[in-house]
Amino acid sequence: MFWQKEIETIGRKALEELQLKRLKQTVQRAYKNIPFYSDKFSKLNIKPKDINSLKDIKKLPFTTRENLRENYPFGLLAVEREQVVRLHTSSGTTGKPKAIFFTKKDINQAAELIARCLIMTGIKKDDVLQNMMTYGLFTGALIMHYGAEKVGVLVIPAGPGHTKRQLALMQDFKTTTLHLTPSYALYLADVMSNEGLDPKRDFFLRRAYLGAEPYSEETRKKIEKFFSIDVFNSYGLSEMNGPGVAFECMEKNGMHLWEDNFIIEIINPETGKEVAEGEKGELVLTTLCREAMPILRYRTRDITMIIPGKCKCGRTHRRISRIIGRTDDMFIVRGVNIFPQQIEQVLMGVKGVAQNYQIILESYDQMTVRVEISRDLFDGRIEHLMNLQNEITEKLRSEILVKPKVELLEPGTLPVSEGKATRVIDKRTL
Ligand code: AMP
Ligand code: ZN
Repeated sequence: MFWQKEIETIGRKALEELQLKRLKQTVQRAYKNIPFYSDKFSKLNIKPKDINSLKDIKKLPFTTRENLRENYPFGLLAVEREQVVRLHTSSGTTGKPKAIFFTKKDINQAAELIARCLIMTGIKKDDVLQNMMTYGLFTGALIMHYGAEKVGVLVIPAGPGHTKRQLALMQDFKTTTLHLTPSYALYLADVMSNEGLDPKRDFFLRRAYLGAEPYSEETRKKIEKFFSIDVFNSYGLSEMNGPGVAFECMEKNGMHLWEDNFIIEIINPETGKEVAEGEKGELVLTTLCREAMPILRYRTRDITMIIPGKCKCGRTHRRISRIIGRTDDMFIVRGVNIFPQQIEQVLMGVKGVAQNYQIILESYDQMTVRVEISRDLFDGRIEHLMNLQNEITEKLRSEILVKPKVELLEPGTLPVSEGKATRVIDKRTL
């Protein structure tokens, strides 16, 4: 099923023509209306008329999140203030937030993209979507909400937390679809089992959209199995509308990134040079339809790759792989580059491990991985679980090439997360 079949299955040549037309318009508007870009263009000695092919995008300056912060609050606005109808901010952990503005048309366009995503996963009007993302300045919940309403499903704006109330809503209104973070999905599973509820017998669930933070294929499988549902990966960032930038289709093999709205580049984060299709690198996105806040070559800091080849579903927009990690999250122990997600992938594949874990960076040579064990394994003691501890240590060592200290914990020891989880505690910088 398609929401906008013509554009979702558009031929590559026509798509590229459309991209070039929109890129030229975007560059022109950014240059004319945003002093930050006109200054950058002068410094690089370029003018909008120098953009004559998609390849010319390389002439344009990158935009970084620091640039967004420096221009807070109104510096990157390309329209009159009166045309702006919505403000969101991006969840930064340090410093000033990034202000993201939407015109009416921008909100509508973001909702259209969500509608494409939802229909792509087989949703229908009789579905009930319980939206467990945070409503407010974060784009995660509201953009999804508008898109789901456009499709015509019943949306329950539950927000995160209040887990027992969530369960009651899910039962009373026969929720079929969840939108939530992977950490919260794992927590929800834990609460369900604790309450003696059976996801198959006591609920009506068919699918879940998981996003807002990196998670592994193992975690997807674990969640799909527990709830007996399909889990679809959902990727987005506030700077590019929020959710709906890239989403999995029923093939569940990479996320289609809507190329009529964004130009994709994958670069080597150190050199800034483009990498080949199928190679990992940092995702760089240029908006093609945003009115209030066009952004050129945005350095997302998310590491992914383009999946080569065509998708069986018939959509022609290229797919990006699961986000492997953020350049910000990567840490180095004994000279080895490690992403938290590599650790998660190992842990979620070990029988007897529950959902919650924490990585403590003790020093530049030593890290500790603290892991909760599953409830059925816990009999009041953990000292006798040496085999499990050794198995985890060995599996981690072979994945990340560094031998961590592994600490097993009682279920429920670590803090739970309703939104994005903090997995790494860096004692070296505390
Ligand atoms: P925000 O700007 O608060 O919307 O956060 C956006 C960031 O969340 C992205 O740049 C990614 O790092 C992360 N993110 C969002 N969706 C996913 C996903 N499906 N997988 C991994 N990371 C994600
Ligand atoms: Zn597909």
